[in-house]
Amino acid sequence: MNTTPAPAFLSCDAGGTRIKLGVVRSGRLLARAEIPAQAGDGLGPALDRLIRAARRCCREAGIDLREVQGFGLAFPGIIEPGTERILSTPAGKFDDAPRLGLPGSLADRLSLPVRLCNDANAALAGEWAFGAARGTRSAVMMTLGTGIGTSAIIDGVPLRGQHGQAGCLGGHWTAQVGGATCPCGNVGCAETLASTWALPRHARAAEGFNTSALAHTRVLDYAAVFHAASQGDRLARQLRDHAVAVWASTLVSLIHAYDPECVVLGGGIMRSRAFVLPRIRRHVAQHAWTPWGRPKVRAARLGDDAALLGMASLFPTAA
Ligand SMILES: [Zn+2]
Repeated sequence: MNTTPAPAFLSCDAGGTRIKLGVVRSGRLLARAEIPAQAGDGLGPALDRLIRAARRCCREAGIDLREVQGFGLAFPGIIEPGTERILSTPAGKFDDAPRLGLPGSLADRLSLPVRLCNDANAALAGEWAFGAARGTRSAVMMTLGTGIGTSAIIDGVPLRGQHGQAGCLGGHWTAQVGGATCPCGNVGCAETLASTWALPRHARAAEGFNTSALAHTRVLDYAAVFHAASQGDRLARQLRDHAVAVWASTLVSLIHAYDPECVVLGGGIMRSRAFVLPRIRRHVAQHAWTPWGRPKVRAARLGDDAALLGMASLFPTAA
């Protein structure tokens, strides 16, 4: 009988506020940890804390760091295909990352193979290998969180493009000609209309803000908007309905661009899936041009863990 354990991997998901970390074996998280991102200070200062947390995580999982077969880092930026160098970071977050010599410098420090991947692409890799898109040949994912992350797998091949930009910039497709300038440089991006980072500006500029429950909420995010809307708050309902319309329209564009059989919706906003999912499904059924039938519209199954599990799936020995 073969008693060799399946290979284990360290995975890391560098979000703007939290860096998540996990030990993954056979598509399961054996242990996990989180550290504050302090993204404004850069990625360099976070790497020491990250490596310490990785060691703790391994101890908790009962795995020696020497047994780990690879370290995967999901990063919120544009990653060069092939070299997996970080080409670009979100404005004001991990600004130093392109100058840190990743992934080679981290591989040297850890004495491990290191893979880097855009975080939205990592999330779809996870859902495709283990979650809502499992068993499909072509899938797209839209992650609704601080921004809008997108990713596509076409005929079983992750879409990357010549410079790593294909598929992952759906949140920066123009959704409003002449709209607000986005930190990415474009005007009227979907993210400028309906993302957690853009929400406070829209809410505070809206008529009726001072008399809305949102004026008194501590954290002005979509959880607050969905809650206030469910209580009948007029402004919250307007913001909620507009956001759902933007997300649904963006999803139709993704379907038109990438021809998936399955679309997966993830991110923190999907905690309100009972409201969001049926409306997006209805919009897609009415407006997507798919003469072959209807793409399946599914909620993500892996939640916060999608990118962690996805990074581990990228190592050839993970199969
Ligand atoms: Zn943009």
